[in-house]
This record gives sequence, C-alpha cells and structure tokens, in this order.
Amino acid sequence: MKYKRILLKLSGEALQGKNKTTNIDPAVLEQYSEEIKAVREQGVEIAIVIGGGNIFRGGQAEALGIDRVQGDYMGMLATVVNGMALQSALERHGMYTRLMSGIKMEQVCEPFIRRRAIRHLEKGRIVIFGAGIGNPYFTTDSTAALRAIETQSNVVLKGTRVDGVYTADPEKVPTATRYQKLSFQEAYEKNLNIMDMTAFTLCMENKLPIIVFDMNKKGNLLKVAKGEEAGTLIS
Ligand code: UDP
Repeated sequence: MKYKRILLKLSGEALQGKNKTTNIDPAVLEQYSEEIKAVREQGVEIAIVIGGGNIFRGGQAEALGIDRVQGDYMGMLATVVNGMALQSALERHGMYTRLMSGIKMEQVCEPFIRRRAIRHLEKGRIVIFGAGIGNPYFTTDSTAALRAIETQSNVVLKGTRVDGVYTADPEKVPTATRYQKLSFQEAYEKNLNIMDMTAFTLCMENKLPIIVFDMNKKGNLLKVAKGEEAGTLIS
C-alpha cells in the first residue's frame, strides 16, 4: 500500500445513485462499503468526509426564503444524516467505525476531538467526519482538506463519478482529455475546478496530495490506495 492513512471525500449527491429516485440509494452504500472494506483489509487507516448535497446545500437556502447561515447549518446536519447511513452500512460489513461531528450532538455521535480521531484511526476504526467543520460558509471539500491535515493523513482521495481531472468537462466536451498528474500550480493557473479554493489552498500550502478518481468503478479505491495509476494526482 502506498498510503498508510487516507482521507476519502465522498459527495452527498453520489449517494442518490444513478436513478436519483431516493436520497440514499442502498446499492451505493453497498458498493462503497465493499470498496472501503477491501482497502481497510490491507491495513490502511481510513478517514471519511461525506457531503450533504443529496439532502441540502446552503446555496439553495436563499431561493427558499431561508437565511444563508441557517441553510449552511441545514447542510451540515445533512452530512450527519449521510454519515449515519454510511456508518451503518460499514458496520454491517464488519468494520469498526466512529462518527465524529463538528457540531456537538452527543446522543448521535462523538464531538470532533483531533487526538481522539487519530487514536481511533490508529486502532483501525474508520472515522467519519460529519457536520463539516461546524462553521457556515465552508464546504465538505474544505472539511476534507482540514481534517486530512489535522489527522496527518497522507492524501485526500476525492471520489467522484468522473475518472479524474480533464482539460474541460468530459460530460459536455467529448474531446476533453484527462490529466494523469498535475502540480498545484498548474491546476491553479489552468483554473481547473478540483476543489473549492479554500480546500485547494489548504492542500497546496500543506503539501497534501489530492487524487481525483472514479469511485463508481469497482476496485478503483484499492488501486488508488496502492498507488496505481487511476485518476489524476495533484501534488
Ligand atoms: N457546510 C457548511 N460548513 C461546512 C461544511 C458544509 O456550511 O464546514 C454546508 C454547506 O451549506 C454545504 C452543505 O453543508 O453546501 C453540504 O455540503 P457540500 O455542499 O460540501 O456537500 P457535497 O456537495 O459534497 O454533497
């Protein structure tokens, strides 16, 4: 295994699955659990940040007459709902897990305490970080970058439905080509939308590599954790 400790970022939207008929598709939870288990079985320590976009995003608030900050908190709570669903799925597959929240809710999960999170990881527990960083105006990408730095993870693995970073949006521009590797500087200059600027800057300044890869392709997470070429490495 190339990486001892990874931080996996999953989008909330991906939980809806292909048909988007439900907020949380059990088939996606099943697939994620199998992928994560295969990596855990190789001894890799795994932290996870999951988004909330399948339920609510702060950016939607104003159109609904909801205050933006209130909307952001709604979004953060949505990530806890997703975290709980993922936690159950992982446990059903025999993994030990902890859900830690950036907003205190003791009946549901532990508060985020950095040293405790590291201890859980050392013991082989999969740690899911819910409720973002606990502050409005941030995203779960920024949470992923921050928690990865705080827990001394070796890499941020951004699982998406595309197999890496392209010269243009491959779903719109069929001639777009994929980058295998990029430097932070190149990604910045080319204005490639890898993560939001806060997240991107945190990774760049702390020399924390990012790998963007297709989480829906079977065996891909293991491949990435082994250091095999799959997706785009930004370092
Ligand atoms: N959010 C926030 N602070 C954080 C993390 C998330 O306010 O530290 C809110 C924000 O409104 C965001 C929502 O939670 O829109 C859901 O997260 P995100 O949009 O990043 O989820 P994803 O797009 O990955 O599903």
